This record gives sequence, structure tokens and C-alpha cells, in this order.
Amino acid sequence: MTASGVRLLEGRPIADEIRIAVAEDVATFAAANGRAPGLAVVIIGRDAPSTVYLEQILRGCAKVGIHAEFVELEGEATERSVAAAIRRVNADPSVDGVIVQMPLPPTIRLRAVIDAIDPAKDIDGIHPLNAGLLRLGYDGFLPATAHAAVEILRRSGIEIAGRDAVIIGRSAVVGMPAAFMMVKEDATVTVCHSRTRDLAEHVRQADIVIVAAGRPGLVTGAMLKPGAVVVDVGINLVDGHVVGDVDFASAVKVASAITPVPGGVGPLTNALLLTHLIRAAERQASARHALARRATAREPSEREPSEREPSSTEPPEREPSSTEPPEREPSNTEPPEREPSNARPGPSAAPRGDR
Ligand code: NAD
Repeated sequence: MTASGVRLLEGRPIADEIRIAVAEDVATFAAANGRAPGLAVVIIGRDAPSTVYLEQILRGCAKVGIHAEFVELEGEATERSVAAAIRRVNADPSVDGVIVQMPLPPTIRLRAVIDAIDPAKDIDGIHPLNAGLLRLGYDGFLPATAHAAVEILRRSGIEIAGRDAVIIGRSAVVGMPAAFMMVKEDATVTVCHSRTRDLAEHVRQADIVIVAAGRPGLVTGAMLKPGAVVVDVGINLVDGHVVGDVDFASAVKVASAITPVPGGVGPLTNALLLTHLIRAAERQASARHALARRATAREPSEREPSEREPSSTEPPEREPSSTEPPEREPSNTEPPEREPSNARPGPSAAPRGDR
């Protein structure tokens, strides 16, 4: 709680709790599998803007006993060499999860990364299979930042069901997945973006505002409904300081709760990524065990000569949850909502840098 009475939704204490649980899960996994869970971070050139963030992830992994390392490519890497590096980690049984530096250099299309990454190791939820699972309400890998934006509300005990939420930003990595998660939490959701006509009018109706636009000062206190809850996902460097997309000074006078920047969504994002890695590691290990049990249950003479270890492109064994029904929606009597035929291109065509 601040002097103005607004509640600060801080990510760090929640992230610390998550890391304690992750460290226990890592120890359990290592005892059962004889190795720590492994993360590969594909980085294209050490001078990439996200290097500091990626190094933070590596340090975070080391603290909880996860084996994490950079797979480093030259700054002038081609799409082919990036895809080849991703395929190598896909095939490496000691690597359970893969993340790729974002934003990518302008010469590498996200499509090249998406086409190469094994959905079972896609712990930041960029593959269309995981995006599709989220869209249909199934249990795939969530993009960690969008997950953090919603998780900070849940873990702070903010009521979501039945409330009006406005999401500002429609990117494939933050805005849209956050919107689908909020729908799953039973909020009534409006997605605003750069072509929204009257942003303030929409924001004024919202009980919960999630801002992920990359525009410092976009949302001010004057736009908020009194008592609104504000989640600021934005990370912007202004005059050497990291600031969010919300004008914090005016927003705290109107909001009932708000995430600070830095210290809100960011720390939680990294911690949740580790939980995704554990989940990936456990799923792949149990699929391997199931396959090994099946193989030993049969006489060697019965085995097909072509029988082999699971390849990283065989999803059904490893993705049992993708076949489990979603908790609630969608009902099978309702056709899935369709985008209009002139809908914006999907993630593989225009994933980031959406205006
Ligand atoms: P993006 O550029 O891909 O998308 C920005 C979105 O904001 C677009 O959909 C666009 O339509 C919308 N937008 C832009 N200007 C707007 C305006 N004036 N009014 C309404 N909508 C507008 O960005 P992104 O990758 O989705 O990231 C969004 C923000 O989140 C950035 O600041 C980024 O740095 C930050 N981010 C934070 C974390 C974290 O861990 N906290 C992680 C990733 C990204």
C-alpha cells in the first residue's frame, strides 16, 4: 500500500515464492532422471538488445539448479543457420526447453524460428500449436509475459471473473494471449490497439486494465475508472530510466491497485518461465518412460525394425494435456468463433512489431 492508498502489486515476492517451489521440483526431477532440467537460450549476436535480460534468465536458472546455456550464433546468422541451431537443441535429450532471443534481428523472420521449434520444448509459447491450444482453452505453453500479467492478478487475489477488462495491445506474444487468458478467467474482455478510435473511452469502462503497447505514458490517471486495477506490462527506456506504459504518478491517485515498473510483471515473467521449463521436462520424461515401458513389455522379436526413440516432432506422446478437454469452454455445440476473412495475418506472418 502506498501513501495514496493504492495497492502496489509487486512481482518480486510472488516470483520468490515460485522460485522456492521450482527449486524443489528441480531436485525431484534430478533425483528421478539423473540430470537437472535443461534450458537452451538461442541468441544471435552477444550485442542483441535482450542480452542482459537473457543473462538474467541464465542466472535465475543457476540459482534453482536448472542447467541453462546460450546457444550462440554470429550476428550475421541466416534463417537457415538459426533453424539448424534450434533443430539441434530439439534433438538434444538433455534440453527440455528452448527460448529464442526476441526481438530477432531484422534479417531473421519469426516464421523461421516458429517453423523450427519443437512445440514440446516451446516454453515461451510462440509455436502456433501452443497459441492454438490457448485459443481453444486447452493447456499448452503460455507466453511467459502474458502469463505473468494475468498471474499477478490471480496471485494478488484480484477478482477477475465477471469484471470488465481492457487489454491495450494485440501482439501475438503479449496482448492477444493475455486477452485469451482473461476470457478463460471469465472476464469480459475488450482488446484495444493502435487503430482503436477512442482509447480513453474504453479504458474508462474497465475494472482491470492490462497495458502492453510499448508507449510510455499512454494511460494516465484521467483515463481510469476510480478503483481500477492496472497491470503495466510496458518496458521503455526514457532518459536512462525504465518506465512502463502507464503514467504512474497520475494513475496511483485513481487506481485501487497497480503494478510498478520495474518490479511488477517483469520479475514474475522470469519465474514463470522456469515453471514452464519444469513442466516441459516432466512431460517429456514421462513420455519417454511410457515409451520405454511399452518397448520392454514386448518381446524383442515382435518389435518393428523401424522402432526408435521418439523424435522431437511426434507430439501426441509428449503432449497428453493437449488431448485433455478444456476446463470449461468451448462447448462442442458452439462453432469456434471465426476471424473475418480479412483478419490480420497470424503470428507466423506478422508476429511482432504490430502497430
Ligand atoms: P508490440 O510492439 O509487438 O505490440 C504493441 C501493441 O500495442 C500493438 O498491438 C499495437 O497495436 C498497440 N499499440 C501501440 N500504440 C498504441 C496506442 N497508441 N494505443 C493503443 N494501442 C497501441 O509489443 P509487445 O511485444 O507486445 O510488447 C508490449 C510492451 O511490453 C513493450 O513495452 C515491451 O517492451 C513490453 N514487454 C514486457 C515484457 C515483460 O516481461 N514485462 C516482456 C515482453 C515485452
